[in-house]
Amino acid sequence: MIRPKAPHPGVRRILRGVVACAACAPLLFAAGGASAQARSAAAPANPLWRAAKVRNYLPDMTWPEVQALLARSDMVIIPVGALEQHGLQGPIGTDFLNSTEEAKLIAQRTDVLVAPILLPGNSPYHMGFPGTITLSAETLERVYFEAVQSLLQHGFRRFLLLTGHAGNTATVRFIVDRINQETPGVAVELGEASAPYRKASLQRGPRAFDRHAGVGETSVSLYLTPGLVDLAAARKAVITYPAHLQAIEPQVAAGDPTASLVFLAEALKAKSTGKHTSTREMTDTGSWSELDPKLATAAQGQAEVEAFVSSAVQFIDAWKALRPMGVK
Ligand SMILES: [Zn+2]
Repeated sequence: MIRPKAPHPGVRRILRGVVACAACAPLLFAAGGASAQARSAAAPANPLWRAAKVRNYLPDMTWPEVQALLARSDMVIIPVGALEQHGLQGPIGTDFLNSTEEAKLIAQRTDVLVAPILLPGNSPYHMGFPGTITLSAETLERVYFEAVQSLLQHGFRRFLLLTGHAGNTATVRFIVDRINQETPGVAVELGEASAPYRKASLQRGPRAFDRHAGVGETSVSLYLTPGLVDLAAARKAVITYPAHLQAIEPQVAAGDPTASLVFLAEALKAKSTGKHTSTREMTDTGSWSELDPKLATAAQGQAEVEAFVSSAVQFIDAWKALRPMGVK
C-alpha cells in the first residue's frame, strides 16, 4: 500500500478541528494552497473500519449507482439470515454474514443487486443461549414484504430470497408466494432454484449428523469470515435427546425418511413447547452435530461456497436467458 504524503502541519490542525465542530468546515476550504490530495491524506478515519466497497451491494452504493444498475438488471438477491448462537466458536451473526457474503460473491459474477434487510430471523429454539435475537414469522414476513414493495417502486422486478438459516424456510416460502400472488414482482428461493445446477459429485451419500454450528457450517465461516471464528474454543458437543427421540436416532442416522421426518418435526423447538428439544436442552455447547467442529477447515468451506455460488450464477443466467429484462 502506498501511503499518501503527510499534509502541511497547518492543514492537519484545521482538520482535527473539523471532527469536533462541523461549523469549522468553512476553515477547511479557506486553507489556501492545500491540495485535495493533502486534505484527503489528513482526513480522520475510524480505526475499526476494515470494509472496502463491494460492487452491487446496496448498503455501499450511491443512488446514481443503483439507478445505473437498474438499466442493466431487474434482479435482487435478498439474504434472509439470523442472529443466533453458533456454538463456542461461531459468531452470533453467522447466518446473516454467510448468506450475505455468498450473495455478494454471486453478484460479482452476474449483474444483480444484493439487498440485506434484517439481521435477525426466526430462532426461538436458540433463546436459551445469550445473544440470540428472534423475530416472529409474522414480523419477518411483513418487513421483507414491505422492503420488496420499496424495491418494486424503484423498478426491480425479480427477487431471489436466499435462506441463510433453515428456521426461516417456511417463512421465506410464504414471502416468495406473497410476492408472486400479490405484486408485479416475481420471486424464487435461490437455494431451491439453484439446486439442479449443483454438481452430482457434491450430492454425497449418508453423512454424519452435522446440522448446526458443526464442521460444515464452521468451515463455511472460516472461509467467508475468517477473523470471526474462534476454532480453539470449539469442542464436540454432548447431545441429549428425550428418550423417545433417542430411541429412533439410529434410524434417523441411517437416513430413514419417515424417522427423519417425525424426528425433525419434534426436534429443535422452543422451550415453551415443552418438547425438551430447544438447543439449550439438547446440546451443552450449542453445536448440534455428532462431529467435533474443531475439524472444520477453510478449504472445505471454500469448496461448499464455490459449489453454491457457481450453481446460483448458473440459475440466474438461465433465468436471464428465459426471461430477458423488460418483458412485461
Ligand atoms: Zn447457522
